[in-house]
Order: sequence, then structure tokens, then C-alpha cells
Amino acid sequence: MAAIDTAVLGDWVSRFGTAVTEKRDWLTELDSAIGDADHGANMARGMSAVAEKLSAGTPATVDDLLKTVGMTLVSSVGGASGPLYGTFFLRMGMAAGPVTELDGPGLAAALRAGLDGIVARGKAEAGDKTMFDAMAPGVDALDAALGDGASLADAVRAAAEAAATGRDATMPLVARKGRASYLGERSAGHLDPGAASTAILFDTLAAAVAGSAG
Ligand code: ADP
Ligand code: MG
Repeated sequence: MAAIDTAVLGDWVSRFGTAVTEKRDWLTELDSAIGDADHGANMARGMSAVAEKLSAGTPATVDDLLKTVGMTLVSSVGGASGPLYGTFFLRMGMAAGPVTELDGPGLAAALRAGLDGIVARGKAEAGDKTMFDAMAPGVDALDAALGDGASLADAVRAAAEAAATGRDATMPLVARKGRASYLGERSAGHLDPGAASTAILFDTLAAAVAGSAG
């Protein structure tokens, strides 16, 4: 398959919502170690508001779909992750434009724009122990796999693996952004909750793309 349409993107959003709801307690446990124990609740609340918003049907164009997701997250999640994930989806939608499908390079460019939006908003850099540390390797791996001629399905699977590796690599880091940075050295030895939810974001993207092939 060379492209994904709004139905696959809608399936991604829905799978992400289901997964963060299933993993709510784990995400909250991670946040209780280095934050304020609300990341699971924040993500589950935001994505359930998104599901509610999309229950009338998936918007016809990629930008309408992703902008709706982004605006709903910004308005329904109070924590740092709401504006950050909200900006990610908004920027992704703006980059995609009023199209009905994305090919591999189009998906990679949209994800890159979403990542840039998170950086513009939160100023995170590599190694700050944030969602950036899972997302940047994921987007880089997608670009690299597509550049090597991988199929879209294989490329998003490689991106999901890189995001999971990036999540695991946050364990020893000392947080330099967000609430966890207040802990200083004591933030080391724990996974970053936002990196954990971002690995789920990429895993569910790979699942949605794989699901559409069969
Ligand atoms: P809050 O920190 O307001 O309680 P959440 O617990 O929902 O919000 O989200 C925390 C996650 O947000 C962190 O684990 C981290 O990945 C991410 N985060 C926090 N600040 C930033 C930032 N400036 N840039 C990127 N990600 C950030
Ligand atoms: Mg929190």
C-alpha cells in the first residue's frame, strides 16, 4: 500500500484512544514517579473527548480530521500534554492540507511538522527526557526507512520500534523540561510518561496502517 486515507488516520486516532485508556494506570504510575500522577488521566480524558467529537463520522479531509483532534485535545486537557499533543495534531493537519490521503513522504512530512510544533511550543531538545525523545527518533526512522525504499507499512513499523527505543532511553536521563525537571537528579531511573504515550502513538499508527493492508 502506497498511501493511507482519512479512514486509516481515523482508525489510528481511535486505536490511540483505546490504547491510552487501556494503559491509563501505567501512564499515571510513570507520572507519579516523576510528576503529578495525571498523565494517564489526561490522555484518556483528551482522547475520549476526541472519540466523542468524531462519533458523528470521520471528517472528509486529512486536515479537518487532524485539526479536530488537535483542537479537542487543547480544549479538554489541562496538563502540559494537552497543548503539546494538540499542537502536534494541529500542525500535522496544517502540513497535510485538504487532501483525502497521504503517501509515505506526505505522512513523514506531516509528522515532522507535528514534531516541529511540539518543539516550537515546549522548546524540548534531545535528551531533555520528554515526549520529544520518543517522537524525534520515530520521525527520523520513518524518513530513513522511506529513503531506503521500504513500504509504508514497514516504514511505520520501523518508526514505532525507534519510538519505543527512544522511550526506553529516557530511563537514565535527568529531566530538563516540564514538571519532572523540578526533581533534578531524582528524575533519573524512571521512564518519561510523555515518551511512553508517544511510543503508543507510533505503535498504533503502525497497527492502523498494517490493519488497512489486509
Ligand atoms: P503535566 O506535566 O502538566 O502534569 P502530563 O503529566 O499530562 O502534564 O504530561 C507530562 C509529559 O509532558 C512529560 O512526561 C513530558 O513528556 C511532556 N512534556 C512536559 N513538558 C514538555 C516540554 N516542554 N516539551 C515537550 N514535552 C514536554
Ligand atoms: Mg502530569
